[in-house]
Amino acid sequence: MDKERVKELAENPQFIKGIYNYCDRWCERCPLTSRCLNFALGSEEFADPESRDITNKLFWQKLSETFQVTLDLLKEAAEREGIDLDSLDIEELAEEEAFNEEAAKNHECCRAAKVYGEMVDDWFDSARDLFEQKEDEVNLNVLLEIPDVSPLGQGGFEEAVQVVRWYQHQIYVKLMRAIRGDLEEKPKILDEFPSDSDGSAKVALIAIDRSIAAWGEIRNYYPLPDRDILNLLVHLDRLRRKVEKVFPGAREFIRPGFDKIHLNG
Ligand code: SF4
Repeated sequence: MDKERVKELAENPQFIKGIYNYCDRWCERCPLTSRCLNFALGSEEFADPESRDITNKLFWQKLSETFQVTLDLLKEAAEREGIDLDSLDIEELAEEEAFNEEAAKNHECCRAAKVYGEMVDDWFDSARDLFEQKEDEVNLNVLLEIPDVSPLGQGGFEEAVQVVRWYQHQIYVKLMRAIRGDLEEKPKILDEFPSDSDGSAKVALIAIDRSIAAWGEIRNYYPLPDRDILNLLVHLDRLRRKVEKVFPGAREFIRPGFDKIHLNG
């Protein structure tokens, strides 16, 4: 895809500007794929199955083309905004970024999110038997045609596992972005502008909410009182409350498309 095609798509009013900045990247489940430029670009660029195969030459060729188009568009945007890319003090910027990265990693929210990711892995490692048993049960239910009465619908247990797995590391990633963004924004942003860090924190909060619901669902299926799931729930709930405290504006942040219909971006 050349940069003219990217620009043509970007100008299409069907797409909601910036919708992909505050989503959970779960495109298979996204109700707004038709309004997302990122999705359209990906579908067009990687339509050929070979271009999605990391072991295929076409995949790397497409990636290299995307890199070139991105650089070209960056140069154009920099020119338009009067930014001299050559004049940037790389060393000073790198130092500031490294400092913010370290500060974000050490922030209690990020540390707790990281621990959560590890707790999830530990739980799944220890629950191998349950999964084997569940697989047998599902097969038996199919044989006996027993309907699934879970509030998550058919296959509620599997659904809940998918939700937990999808958000397991995303909570950390989004919180890192939120904290880093907060450190960068603080000196520059005026209070009346919605902040990107609030948007990222909101995505993390939604991921936490959904993970709590999913763990509740898994717990219903677990045959014995499970202390580990309770610990996970307590950990997530504490993290949720902490994030709300650190980012008091996050819940109110309007995510383009998801919280408000944008007719033309
Ligand atoms: S907005 Fe939806 S379609 Fe676009 S990247 Fe996010 S999840 Fe995928």
